[in-house]
Parts: sequence; structure tokens; C-alpha cells
Amino acid sequence: MKPDWVPILCYHRVCPESEFGPDPGSLCVTPGQFGRQLALLKALGYRTVTLADLAAYLKAQKNLPPRSVVLTFDDGYADNCVHAFPLLKKHGFTATVFLVTDRIGGTNVWDSGKVPLLNEDQIVRMRDGGVHFGSHSAGHADLSRSDPGTIRRELSDSLEKVRGLCGRMDVPFCYPYGRPGPAAKAAARELGYLCALSTDTGSDTDQSGDLFEMRRVQVFPSTTLSGFWKKLQPWYPRWQKFQKKLKSSF
Ligand SMILES: [Zn+2]
Repeated sequence: MKPDWVPILCYHRVCPESEFGPDPGSLCVTPGQFGRQLALLKALGYRTVTLADLAAYLKAQKNLPPRSVVLTFDDGYADNCVHAFPLLKKHGFTATVFLVTDRIGGTNVWDSGKVPLLNEDQIVRMRDGGVHFGSHSAGHADLSRSDPGTIRRELSDSLEKVRGLCGRMDVPFCYPYGRPGPAAKAAARELGYLCALSTDTGSDTDQSGDLFEMRRVQVFPSTTLSGFWKKLQPWYPRWQKFQKKLKSSF
């Protein structure tokens, strides 16, 4: 049996509440929550797969276990190495971390500027421990509103940087703010990215339809364990859209 939908989950930070800091708390889950979510995946028989695995599956070049899931982290926060990486290793899971390549070893200047990002040593340690990396652009620009020159530079500089750091050519991209825009999609394809991920856009039924606007499901600190289980289901994107529609019509 092959999976008809492989959930791609989207995280940002993993840290204790005392470290949430000035940025929106919605970007953080605690190590306790994250650990329980991984334990549930394990209990339900899920395997974590990479985006290279998923892209090959969607092109009918590879099979995947019936219960497959992709874990992704945006922005490349240092806490991913401190808090998420040990839990991933404990469960034998992999994940993909999307780096803002001009800011490696710096801070999240596109938000508060106060939260540290992964440095190269941490990236290498995670890479050697089985974690994959992708590009989240060079400087976290909103590519849906950028000029063509900026889009190209943001995508090509970061692609080279991630290839150099990770020694892999098959690098996935993740649109800053989850906003693709037609020019950025076209550039990601032309420059040779493996695939590109959005947040709440892209097909909600056919993942092979557009590998350059793949839908993800976000995990929040408010996500309960049963809510997390729901986010794994093939019908979840349609459920989410239905909920939005209900809210706007009543
Ligand atoms: Zn981001």
C-alpha cells in the first residue's frame, strides 16, 4: 500500500517557554510537546522521509512506506540543534531545516533580531546526524513582492551556500512568509531546486500536481496531541479550508 498523502509538517522554533522571547509565541513549541508528537508518530508507525524521497515518490521513481511524514523547520533557529535534534535522534527521525543563508550564525533580523540562528558548526553536526537542509532564501525577503533581480539573487546565492555546506545538489526551497508568487516559483524551478514549499497554499488533494508550491501543515504551541493527529490525515487540508469557510460565512 502506498501513501495517498504524505503530510509535510512545518515547525519554526523548539524551546522552553522561558526562551520564547519577543517574537510571536505561535512560532515555538516546547521540547515536551515536540517529544510527545514524535512519540505519537512512532506509536502510529510513521517513518520520516526527506523531500528528496517524497519528490522521487511523486515522480513515480520510488516507493514510500504507507505511513510517511516529512518534518520541516523554517528559519534555522539555533534551538533546533539544542532542543529538536536530540529528540529526532532519540526516535531515529530525520527532518529538513530551511536556512536563511546570509544570517547563518546571526539572528532573526526579519523579526525581532533577538533569536540566535544555527551557526555552521551546528549545521555540520546536524548534517552528520542525518538532518537535511534547504534554502529559505538569502535574506528572508518577501519574494511575492520582490523584483526579478532580487528574486534571482535570493534564490541562487542561497542555493550555492546550502550546496556547499551540505554537499548535496538536490536542495529544496521554502518561500519566506509562505508566499510563493509566480516569479519566485519560476526562478526556483529554473535554478534547479528540487522542489519548493509554501505554507497554506498549493494543492490540498494532489501533491504531485505542483512540486514548486507544496502545501504544508503548521504545528503551533496550541496544537493538542489529538489536533496533531488530525494534521497527519489526508483530509486535513480540506478540513482546514472548510473551517475557514465556516468562519467567514457565519
Ligand atoms: Zn521564515
